[in-house]
Amino acid sequence: MTARILDGLKIRDEIFGELKGEIAKLSGQGLRPGLAVVLVGENPASQLYVKHKIAACKELGMASWLHTPPANVSTEYMLQLTRDLNEDNNVDGVLVQLPLPQQIDSKKVLEAVDPAKDIDGFHPVNLGKLVSNRPGLVACTPAGCMEMLRRYKIPIEGANAVVLGRSDIVGKPMALLLMHQNATVTICHSKTRELAEVVRHADIVVAAMGKAGYVEADWIRPGAAVIDVGTNRVTDGDEAEKLLKNFPERLEKFRAKGNVLIGDVHPDALFTAGALSPVPGGVGPVTITMLMSNTVKAARLRRGKSSVVAGQ
Ligand code: NAP
Repeated sequence: MTARILDGLKIRDEIFGELKGEIAKLSGQGLRPGLAVVLVGENPASQLYVKHKIAACKELGMASWLHTPPANVSTEYMLQLTRDLNEDNNVDGVLVQLPLPQQIDSKKVLEAVDPAKDIDGFHPVNLGKLVSNRPGLVACTPAGCMEMLRRYKIPIEGANAVVLGRSDIVGKPMALLLMHQNATVTICHSKTRELAEVVRHADIVVAAMGKAGYVEADWIRPGAAVIDVGTNRVTDGDEAEKLLKNFPERLEKFRAKGNVLIGDVHPDALFTAGALSPVPGGVGPVTITMLMSNTVKAARLRRGKSSVVAGQ
C-alpha cells in the first residue's frame, strides 16, 4: 500500500478557483485587492520567487506592484518605502522578499510593515494574535499545511501531532495552529532526544528542519499523515542514489539534471504513511496560494467585508 498523496497543486487550483470569485466580487465593488512586493538587489532565487508571486496575482485578477531597489540601499530607505506602502490605500499586502542584504536591519523593516498589511504573518502583532487564537494574518507555510489537512479531511482533534523544527516562520506557528485545532502537539528541535521514538507516536508529522530525507520511513507510524515542508536540493550522487533507490524514474532525472529536490522525510515514507505531501508538488504550491489568500483576507479585514472562501 502506498500513501494517499496530499496534492498541493490540486489544492492550489481549488483555492485559486475560490479566490478568483471573491476577487471579482470585491473588484466589482471597486475594492480590487493588491499586493506590493519589494525585491532588493538581484538574488536569482528571490527574483524567481517574486516572479511566481506577481504571476499568481495576475492570474487571479489582483493588482500588484513590484519595487526593485538596488542591493546597496540603506535601512532608512527601506523604512521610508515601507511607510509609503503602508499609507497607500490601494495596497492591501506588503511583502518584503527575504533575505535582505546584510547592511539592512531586516527585523526593523519587517516590524515597520503595517500589521494589517503583513500578509507574510511575520509581524509580532500577528504572532501575538496567533498565540491567543484571535483573527489575524498567519504565516503562509503553516497556514497552507493546515489547509492541506483540512481539505484532505485528516482528523486533527485529539491527534498526536509532532512538529519537527521550531522556527518562527514554520515550526512555532504550525504547532500553535495544530494546538488551536485540539491536537496534542510535541515540538522537536536539534536538541530533542530519541527523535525516532517521538515521531513513532505521531498521528500527524510535520517536518520542517531543512535536512534532506532525515526522517526515516520506519519512524512513521503506519497510516500516519505526513506533511513534508522541507525543500532541500541534493546534488551529491551517492546521497541521491540512497534516497531514491526505490524511485528509478526520479533517479534517472537526477542523473540527467545533476540535482533533485528532496523533502525532510525520506521518500520511502510513501510506503509507510497513510497520507503524504510530496516534495516537490506538496507544501510549496500551497504556500504561495496562501500568500494570495492572505492578501485577499487583508483586503477584506481592512475594508470590513466578510469572506466567501471556506475557512477564512
Ligand atoms: P530553520 O529556521 O533553519 O529551522 C530549522 C529547525 O529544524 C530548527 O528549529 C532546528 O532546531 C530544527 N532541526 C535542525 N536539525 C534538526 C535535527 N537533526 N533534529 C530535529 N530538529 C532539527 O528552517 P525553516 O525556515 O523553518 O525551514 C525548514 C525547511 O522548510 C527548510 O528546508 C526550508 O527550505 C523549508 N521551507 C519550505 C517552504 C515551502 O514553501 N515549501 C517554506 C518555508 C520553509 P534548533 O532550533 O534547535 O536549531
